[in-house]
Amino acid sequence: MPLSMIHSKIKDKVSSGLLLPLMEAFYTIQGEGFHKGTAAYFIRLGGCDVGCHWCDVKESWDAKKHPPTPVEDIVKEAVKFSDTIVITGGEPLMWDMEPLTFLLKQKNIKTHIETSGAYPLSGHWDWICLSPKKNMLPKEEIYSKAHELKVIVYNKDDFRFAEEQAHKVNENCILYLQPEWSRREKVIPLIVDYVMQNPRWKVSLQTHKYLNIP
Ligand code: SF4
Repeated sequence: MPLSMIHSKIKDKVSSGLLLPLMEAFYTIQGEGFHKGTAAYFIRLGGCDVGCHWCDVKESWDAKKHPPTPVEDIVKEAVKFSDTIVITGGEPLMWDMEPLTFLLKQKNIKTHIETSGAYPLSGHWDWICLSPKKNMLPKEEIYSKAHELKVIVYNKDDFRFAEEQAHKVNENCILYLQPEWSRREKVIPLIVDYVMQNPRWKVSLQTHKYLNIP
């Protein structure tokens, strides 16, 4: 088969979610948000064009750098480790999450996603962590479905943004403010004050970084 045909077949499978650009997968402790402290298997998919300047996984941005991997292989490996799988990125919703989550649900796995919401929601999820970004806002549909809203605080304007986003989510959605890691010393005191004055918000810390685990 000519190389160009092989490439176009791979492209088709990637766009239907049967192959996903797998950057890395690892068993660790969820460090952030509602499930912090809980063991889970993380699947990090490549591809993101949201462009947060403080992003700590910029290696994920270019999907072409990560091998298109069959979802069957991803699931086969994942189920060896945990009954809870967290799909993260990059921005995982750039890809069709239907085939991957269909297979995971067949195996009774709890499916969690961490997303900016900037792309249409696909897949079957037990837990949606929405972490909106100012430069590419979430699609409207995800606000009513998010279980937790996690706003990264880099500067004071992020409190305004957090309130704006909190108005859009459903009433059961749990609200978190999380310091951007490189600014933690500056913004943690601001977050602490803010949460004490606005107790519907909670503090989320990247505890995995304090524990020195991935
Ligand atoms: S959405 Fe996530 S992966 Fe994408 S640039 Fe922002 S922090 Fe990085």
